[in-house]
Amino acid sequence: MNILFFGPNGSGKGTQGAILRDKFKLAHVESGGIFRENIKGGTELGMIAKGYIDKGDLVPDEITIPMILDRLKKDDCKEGWLLDGFPRNKVQAEKLDEALKTSGMKLDYVVEILLDRETAKNRIMGRRLCVNDNNHPNNIYIDAIKPNGDKCRVCGGELSSRADDQDADAINKRHDIYYNSVDGTLASAYYFKALAEKGASKYIILDGEKAVPEVTAQLLANL
Ligand code: AMP
Repeated sequence: MNILFFGPNGSGKGTQGAILRDKFKLAHVESGGIFRENIKGGTELGMIAKGYIDKGDLVPDEITIPMILDRLKKDDCKEGWLLDGFPRNKVQAEKLDEALKTSGMKLDYVVEILLDRETAKNRIMGRRLCVNDNNHPNNIYIDAIKPNGDKCRVCGGELSSRADDQDADAINKRHDIYYNSVDGTLASAYYFKALAEKGASKYIILDGEKAVPEVTAQLLANL
């Protein structure tokens, strides 16, 4: 099963993606996560990416597109993958579509989580990352997933926040890119929606306002 996941930062995309990853044993390919791993590991890619990420800008396509297309060719993707955070603009969408066609990979589902910009922004500022799994849901502003004191509510791990999650300008920039339906991320979602309407895959729309278990139920009912 191959799945493409869209949703603004803060919509719960990572949380839902991790649930599907575990349930269907999918390779969870998160472009932002790959960059963060590289930053942590002090690689050259990480050092280049950091400058863009901290400001909320996109890492240039020349770096991001081959990085993701190569990742999808790895062995762990053969049994299915879930792509989160890519494509983020129209060029990336076209290149992904081209690569899928060339390699004969089928896209089964395209998921779009709907969430308004203001709610997404508040959620981003409140989210905390667990040292053991970034997708353990922890948010100081959402009662249902409040951390346990200053520790992860799922596993008790240490929590931290992302620098780009505490910077209002960086969040606004990321959302400007996401909600741009001309050549930004929504444009790339609509690119795959148009293909889905021709029967290439199933397009699933979810209400991101709902609590995590409800969104999961809605998602699973549609797969
Ligand atoms: P995310 O974890 O998805 O919020 O991504 C964090 C940051 O990584 C973004 O704000 C971008 O700077 C960078 N990034 C992630 N995915 C992409 C992509 N598909 N294209 C360019 N930059 C990306």
